[in-house]
Amino acid sequence: MFRFARRGLRVLMYHKVSVTGGDELTVTVAQLEQQMAWLRAEGWAFVSVADVARAAAERAALPAWPILVTFDDAYLDTLELALPVLQRQGVRAAVFVPTAFVGAASAWDRVPRPLMHAAQLHALAGAGWELALHSHRHLNYSTLTTEQIAADVRENFSALRGLGLNPAPALAYPFGRRPRGAAARDAMRRLFHEAGVQVAFRIGNRVNALPLRDRFEINRLGVRGDRSFGAFQRKLRWGRLL
Ligand SMILES: [Zn+2]
Repeated sequence: MFRFARRGLRVLMYHKVSVTGGDELTVTVAQLEQQMAWLRAEGWAFVSVADVARAAAERAALPAWPILVTFDDAYLDTLELALPVLQRQGVRAAVFVPTAFVGAASAWDRVPRPLMHAAQLHALAGAGWELALHSHRHLNYSTLTTEQIAADVRENFSALRGLGLNPAPALAYPFGRRPRGAAARDAMRRLFHEAGVQVAFRIGNRVNALPLRDRFEINRLGVRGDRSFGAFQRKLRWGRLL
C-alpha cells in the first residue's frame, strides 16, 4: 500500500466470530486470521484506546500507520475464538461491554448469543485487552434524554469497576446511534467530560483524519464476514468510498 494512502487513524469494528460461517456482523476465524496476518505483514501499528484518548486529549502523536481493533458487545466468542487468533499475531484489542448483560445473552440480537461473564472479562483484561463502555443496557442513545444517558454511562462505568475491571475511558455508541441535534449532542459531550469518557466511537465507515477533529465522533470501519478479502483491503484503505 502506498504511504499516502496510510494517513489517518483506522479503527476496525468487529462483533461476532464463528468457526463456520460469516455474515454482516460475523467473521470466521479464518477471515480474522487472514486479516490480522496481512495487517501485521503490511506494517500497521496497532494502538490502544488509551493511545487514541491521549492523542485526542493531549494532541499526543500516534505512531505512523495507526490502527485500533475493537469488538462490540463482549460476545463469548471474542474470548474463545478471537483472542487466540490475535494472540498469535501479537495484537491486542478493545471490547465494548454492555454491563447489564454480563454473563447473559445479547437480548438485542434477533438470535441472542452468549456473552462473557465476569471471570471471562478478567481473562481478556489479563491478556492485555482493554474493556470500555457500550451503554449499561445497550440502549439507543438517540432515543434518550441527556439525563438518561448520564445515568446509563455512570452505571456502565460503575458496573465495570464493581467487577474489579479497570475501564478504558471510551464508549462505543450502541447501534452507532447518538442524539440528534446540536444542543442534545453538546449536552452529551459535557456529561462525557464530567463522567470521564475521553473518546467515543460511532460507525461511519470512514478513515479518521489526524489530528482527530472530534473525539466523540471517531469513525470505525465495520468488518463484514460476507465480503471478500479484497473488499476488506479496499475498505481499510479508503473507507466506504469504494
Ligand atoms: Zn452493540
